[in-house]
Amino acid sequence: MSENDEKCALCHERKKLCSSHIIPNSFIKKVRRDSPQLIVVTADETTKPRRDNVGAKEKMLCHDCEQLFSSNFEQYGISLLRRSKNIVKGNKNIIVYNYQHDRFYLYCLSIFWRMAQSKLDEFKNVLFPPRVSDIIRNCLLMNTLAINERMDINEIMRINIIKIYDPFSEKRTYYIQNILCPCHTDYTNNEYKISFLAEGLFYTLRLDLNKNNFEKNKNKGLPLGKALKIKKYDYREITELHYSIDCALDKTRKYPFI
Ligand SMILES: [Zn+2]
Repeated sequence: MSENDEKCALCHERKKLCSSHIIPNSFIKKVRRDSPQLIVVTADETTKPRRDNVGAKEKMLCHDCEQLFSSNFEQYGISLLRRSKNIVKGNKNIIVYNYQHDRFYLYCLSIFWRMAQSKLDEFKNVLFPPRVSDIIRNCLLMNTLAINERMDINEIMRINIIKIYDPFSEKRTYYIQNILCPCHTDYTNNEYKISFLAEGLFYTLRLDLNKNNFEKNKNKGLPLGKALKIKKYDYREITELHYSIDCALDKTRKYPFI
């Protein structure tokens, strides 16, 4: 331990911290392709798109915890969704085989947790109540869904994933695949909702402090079986995304050379 050491957000030990990506680096690399920079589009009518080095990095985890995240969650999650032999594409759904509920749930949860831990501006609205944040941390550290002997974390926190596309244009669908939309948050008294878009997939986490609501609205979250069925939605149907995607698509037309 040296005096420059800081507390790791996952194991809470004081160690030298790595510069970690908040959104998995592989999402960013895919959007960036061969360019060293990302194109940043602000969702408004006037701001011109700009190139930026951002890749949302900050000191958060020690080397051991960074490795744990990568081997337990990220390698699995990314390869599951990218390996074409796992995936069967239909008109209304995408089916992902070789899916394991607990591993995939923890992979998604690890991204949401990083966003909530982050002090970067892009994620300043992403927060969990402190007790919940501790529960998530413990599940990730122990690589388990169990909060205690009686309850699993997916009973209070549901994660959903849907595919976003434009049914009227393949070109627009292609552009949507390349939009990385960091975060939407929506908090009411008893429900927290956090979502982000990456590679055409819209991830949503709902935390219900009053668990009964889940039973009422039949939100089942990620399936427990061996295949993950991802429903396809026209981006215009998703309120949180409609305006941002329209802005991004308009600006792609207006500024083709940026
Ligand atoms: Zn650590």
